[in-house]
Amino acid sequence: MKIFVINCGSSSIKYQLIDTENRETLCKGLVERIGAVTSIVKQEFKGEKPIKKTIALDNHAAALKTIMELLIAADNDYLHSLDEIEAVGHRVVHGGETFKDSVLIDEDVEEAIQAAFDIAPLHNPPNLQGIRAAKKHLPNVPHVAVFDTAFHHSIPQHAFLYGIPNRLYRRYKIRRYGFHGTSHYYVSRQYYKESGKSKDGTKIITCHLGNGGSITAIKDGLSIDTSMGFTPLEGLVMGTRSGDIDPSIMFYLIEKEELSLANVHALLNKHSGLLGLSGYAGDMRDLLEEAENGDRRCQEAIDVFCYRAKKYIGAYIAAMNGVDAIIFTGGIGENSSKIRELILKDMQYAGVKIDADRNATRGNTVISTNDSNVEVMVIPTNEELVIAIDSAKIALASKQTPWA
Ligand code: ADP
Repeated sequence: MKIFVINCGSSSIKYQLIDTENRETLCKGLVERIGAVTSIVKQEFKGEKPIKKTIALDNHAAALKTIMELLIAADNDYLHSLDEIEAVGHRVVHGGETFKDSVLIDEDVEEAIQAAFDIAPLHNPPNLQGIRAAKKHLPNVPHVAVFDTAFHHSIPQHAFLYGIPNRLYRRYKIRRYGFHGTSHYYVSRQYYKESGKSKDGTKIITCHLGNGGSITAIKDGLSIDTSMGFTPLEGLVMGTRSGDIDPSIMFYLIEKEELSLANVHALLNKHSGLLGLSGYAGDMRDLLEEAENGDRRCQEAIDVFCYRAKKYIGAYIAAMNGVDAIIFTGGIGENSSKIRELILKDMQYAGVKIDADRNATRGNTVISTNDSNVEVMVIPTNEELVIAIDSAKIALASKQTPWA
């Protein structure tokens, strides 16, 4: 089936056209700076020359209209009419406690996504805008929501409750939800496939390290804990997000620097993490380069990043009473042998042994030694494929039961 996958951010839309039969991406595109004076659209059909356009796009609806026009105008062998698209899959960041699986989007689902605006103010509003705009342009096909939080619904209560009054969980649903679920799910399934191991009885730790980052403990195929929490701010040190901090720091800063709540929010989400620590960049490539040139702050930022990741891995080994495999994915996890090496050094206690040559070789999936107790692998993530496959399944089921 040809499935159109949409990932709407506050000022961007990423999209892919995926053929689920052979798991192939037929077209990839990105619209950036929606709402700015000029927006940039990039699109590439498989085997064709990429196109780039600069155009004024006021909102997500205008952006989607342009995307639809570009899709059929482009010279390609894969899509000649929008009628060939059989379903649309939408990435939705926060499904709250309501959504444990992907769902066909109807009015109730839209309302529930809206109800989670409170707890996901940066993500769910643009996700819903994207859904509404896409439904206008592709009204005759099923639209499916795939949630970042869904895979983490198996986390047990002792791991998802915070140490705050229980009534706050009951009243406001304040708890750990976890994110990047489609990525953790995808790489764990790839691991079972590539290693030949059964999910039952296997303990793995998946490290998604990109601009945002999270680490998940997966036992018997189920997420049992993850580093992101109520929002994607908790856990690892990220590109511009602080990750874990002592909450008292916020009260202290509000008083000392007379910060508003909005200031604190921006400080922790946009000006912290690798960017804040280094005072230079939130992008790991830039930091590695500057650290190599002797910049002390950039090296410190890298050290804090790696130490935090190591701590989470250690915590999840304890939580699962061992680990069979550690998997790296995301822009940093897939591409930086240096970061993988720094995170995994001195882990003899767990029997982790990295093969330096394997780690340094691009595209090498197993980077541990043959006699390592723990298999360490690099597995490129593919969240869009998970969204497409789920959407295809749900679209097929809805065709078979059109009254549903
Ligand atoms: P997002 O979370 O936005 O999807 P990505 O998964 O693309 O982000 O990851 C982006 C991060 O990956 C950036 O910090 C970037 O510097 C880093 N990265 C990409 N390639 C490399 C590389 N070769 N070495 C180190 N870091 C890299």
